[in-house]
Amino acid sequence: MKTHVGTTIVRNGQLIDGTGGKPIANAVVILKDGKIAWAGRANEAPAQDPDARVIDAKGGAILPGLVEAHFHPTYFNVSALEDLDIKYPVEYVTLLAAANAKLAVECGYTSARSGGSLFNIDVWLKKAIESDIFVGPRLATSGREICGVGGLMDWNPDFRKIGMEGLVLLINGPVEARAAVRKLVKDGIEWVKTYPTGDAAAPDTNDHHTLCMTFEEMHAVVETAHNHGMKVTGHCRATEGIKNALKAGYDAIEHGTFVDDECLDLILQRDVPCVPALYFEYASIQRGPEFGMSQRVIDGHQETLDGGAESARRILKAGGTLGMGGDYGFAWNPHGDYARELSFFVNFVGFSPLEVLTCATKNGAKILGRLHEIGTIEAGKLADLLIVDGDPLQDIRVLEDRSRFIAVMQGGLVKAGQLAAPIF
Ligand SMILES: [Zn+2]
Repeated sequence: MKTHVGTTIVRNGQLIDGTGGKPIANAVVILKDGKIAWAGRANEAPAQDPDARVIDAKGGAILPGLVEAHFHPTYFNVSALEDLDIKYPVEYVTLLAAANAKLAVECGYTSARSGGSLFNIDVWLKKAIESDIFVGPRLATSGREICGVGGLMDWNPDFRKIGMEGLVLLINGPVEARAAVRKLVKDGIEWVKTYPTGDAAAPDTNDHHTLCMTFEEMHAVVETAHNHGMKVTGHCRATEGIKNALKAGYDAIEHGTFVDDECLDLILQRDVPCVPALYFEYASIQRGPEFGMSQRVIDGHQETLDGGAESARRILKAGGTLGMGGDYGFAWNPHGDYARELSFFVNFVGFSPLEVLTCATKNGAKILGRLHEIGTIEAGKLADLLIVDGDPLQDIRVLEDRSRFIAVMQGGLVKAGQLAAPIF
């Protein structure tokens, strides 16, 4: 990805640097050749180059670019199962994914980790973004997901004879689990996304307390993935599924809904990050009836929301690592609403705005394995910034309002916000 050449001074803003440290009221951030050269109090700033480009933060806030840690680039207004894989051909879904990627940057998200994708679209999306063919977040890829036969993601009945090969590799036993991971190695993915458990969305066969993979299958996935330098994560709601994942050596947990004491100990032992994705549950409860969800499904989402919120609070309190990501791309939870996750954690889960922002920046970068490059505003890191006309510590919802974004920068280049040249 190209970076800006020259010096930029961002001034007149409150610095929230992503480390979780105390914000600095009147700060200056100096960028040089796409990287952060200096950040701190205005009155302590080094002598400034008179030819430098100056960005006035208008008394607003200077933040690290946000990280969406559970991003499905190929989901697009999904309201029925077939929308996830067979509604459109892969060519059209690729274009939709490119539009979602651009939208994420416009929403202040300069990096994202894919939570699974139709075919290898996210792999090629990343290549196109890195090659500056179009604008999108710095991506960590997942490609196709892995689930046990008969599990949550195996919804096409056999009489249709279409399987789930586009979105999910269905496996029976550790041998097939290894074979599936080996396919992903060739696809060039970074995170293997699996389905250890079910979800409230499938109350009859794979609800949120059901297991969709065996420990042996999960362990085979981890062994094979780690051998090839890939990480493993999984959709984990049921307590037993979370435990299986942690004991099998998973590198992250998605949702972590029903965490008990043993799960919490295991999470802390290896500092395994968790991405709860709770606004999705809230949106399902609020808007479910509109989309024909049964009361049973909605009740399941309520139980999931209550359990997930409690688990997130416990993990935060115990000093674990939480990322912010939200499974956006469903009709009731569309792409573009990413920052609603942050507001939800402040207004409903009870996190402080500073805690949420640390999860959405530093922790996101840590989950991507790129904390040395992104996630905080510190000298030497890439100049990925979000400059917003407002104070998210007073009202986190300002991050939901793109019209308040002065600039969204990647490598010092303004990609979106008021200062960006229109892309189309
Ligand atoms: Zn997901």
